[in-house]
Amino acid sequence: MIPPRRTRTIRIRSLELGGAAPIRLQSMAATRTQDVDATLRQVQLIQAAGADLVRIAVDSKADVDALARIRGATDALLSVDLQENYRLAEHVAPHVDKIRYNPGHLHHHEKQRSTRDKVAWIVDVCAQHGLALRIGVNAGSLSPEHAERFGDDHVGALVHSAADHCAIVDELGFRDYVVSIKDSDPKLVVDANLRFAELRPDVPLHLGVTEAGLPPDGIIKTRIAYEQLLSRGIGDTLRVSLTLPFDDKGQEITVARELLRDIEQGRFRSVPPNFFDGLNIIACPSCSRVENEKFIELAQDVKELTRYAAAHKLTIAVMGCRVNGPGETDDADLGLWCGPKHVNLKRGTEELGAFGYDEILARLKDELDRLITARS
Ligand code: SF4
Repeated sequence: MIPPRRTRTIRIRSLELGGAAPIRLQSMAATRTQDVDATLRQVQLIQAAGADLVRIAVDSKADVDALARIRGATDALLSVDLQENYRLAEHVAPHVDKIRYNPGHLHHHEKQRSTRDKVAWIVDVCAQHGLALRIGVNAGSLSPEHAERFGDDHVGALVHSAADHCAIVDELGFRDYVVSIKDSDPKLVVDANLRFAELRPDVPLHLGVTEAGLPPDGIIKTRIAYEQLLSRGIGDTLRVSLTLPFDDKGQEITVARELLRDIEQGRFRSVPPNFFDGLNIIACPSCSRVENEKFIELAQDVKELTRYAAAHKLTIAVMGCRVNGPGETDDADLGLWCGPKHVNLKRGTEELGAFGYDEILARLKDELDRLITARS
């Protein structure tokens, strides 16, 4: 049921991806990178579940030092996730097999330097170390340039952010790269990846519904996108991003394999027609950037607390840090994004304040009740 893919085949060390290569499965460590033992355990759990690639977040020199120790203790293919601090690329390169950068976060540093120059520098680092590259566009952190250029055409902005960066990388003669275009809304993920594949059928695609949240809803959202895209031969590697307790991280790979097998064998699951009519909880899968390790527990508590509101068409976003927190919560009816000691509460783009981890749930319930009353 998965037609041949039109993408080219690239290499991540000896691993082929794209074209006729098998669809590759990957996941990301949710622990602090500097907690080497915990992160190594995540890498081992994900690898043992059958992953082809494991991603680790790096934001500082201390993270790089920890990554070097993790590298020394595993033979897993490692990808590094660089957000604002893309300048760490040359420091992480000796310890990984692939680099992901986010076009939406390149503008934070070296403001005098052009985007093209920054991308050229990252590509050069990859070429020198024989690394592959991912251009990772995320709806929660769209580049200001594309947000302005495309205005309300949100999907257009995502697609062209990716396509513009492909053009830069192509011009530099680098071909071992893939693209991802992620949103927390599976329908937008389908739309954006279909439009991108139309524009660039040759570029391998990493599929993912970002911040899909807690199972089972997170799995259903991911399935919606994967069924629509893989059945059209779109998608060369998969990440199922679920909010899970650390020791269950391997489930992301197990679920990805099950989804892939179902789609290959034509077992499409219909989604309850009212699936999007009720309460939608968006939650990130956590990673090294998480501001407080209570995040996963908080996301689970939010799900429990809000069960009574399941019939109300509202979106609550629970995010682990400032990287995608502020952007992703802007689009939610109620949003929480974590700080080290406090949780920021928002109603759409309106800041309602920062609350202690022991008081945020009560405040959230107040706001939710207020919203429900206002809409009834
Ligand atoms: S929102 Fe922050 S903590 Fe959550 S996955 Fe994204 S970068 Fe990591």
